[in-house]
Amino acid sequence: MADRTPYIAANWKMNKTVAEAAEFVDALLPRIAATQSDVVICPPFTALTAVVERRYGTAVKVAAQNMHEEDSGAFTGEVSAPMLVELDVEAVVLGHSERRQYFGETDEALARKVPKALAAGLEPILCVGESEQARDDRETEAVLERQLQADLAAVESGDIARVVIAYEPIWAIGTGRTASPEQAQEACAFIRDVVRMRGAAADEVRILYGGSVKPANAAELLALPDVDGALVGGAALVAEDFAMIVDAAG
Ligand code: PEP
Repeated sequence: MADRTPYIAANWKMNKTVAEAAEFVDALLPRIAATQSDVVICPPFTALTAVVERRYGTAVKVAAQNMHEEDSGAFTGEVSAPMLVELDVEAVVLGHSERRQYFGETDEALARKVPKALAAGLEPILCVGESEQARDDRETEAVLERQLQADLAAVESGDIARVVIAYEPIWAIGTGRTASPEQAQEACAFIRDVVRMRGAAADEVRILYGGSVKPANAAELLALPDVDGALVGGAALVAEDFAMIVDAAG
């Protein structure tokens, strides 16, 4: 895995009350105390503070699952970068396929959100990935390149290595179907080539695989040369399972 620090992120989606979030963190922390990886928890907005307060003094980072590109204004239901920074949140997931699919997240909005997050000091976890139809039509690389070019359009090449990129094939998210190691490696290597073409320090960019990662398949996926970590949904709802995935990163 070159010398990039492994990055293992738990995307809780719309799961866990404050009490459940606290219980998870209390169970997780002793299990991952020795990890050398970056471990990131992405709770719903309502549980951010509970997780932030429990992880002080540990290596765990906290990410929001979305943010608006403006600092403030008439955007009912939205949350901005300064609001997250004020809570001591360090990162933000942007462009998750569920946001693209169900909430109309566009590449145009992402082109504003990614530099906004960076400027605010938040680490963007930018999600890209193809649909099953696109894969069947052999358009995976075209989709990935289009998303990356659009979403990173306003990011200086020297800043691209500050973006964590998650390759999440839509057909593998929450379905129990995992990309094969060959598919995951091929897509993540392609993503690295695209950011290299953008002038980024591509060898420094952390590229994650996401899509039905679980304790049973994590080690094989995390051992791939261009896979630097995992974005985990379902298996990140149980502290013991998520801890095993963290362990698999070494
Ligand atoms: C995700 O939510 O980003 C994800 C990869 O989910 P799952 O692990 O459940 O497929």
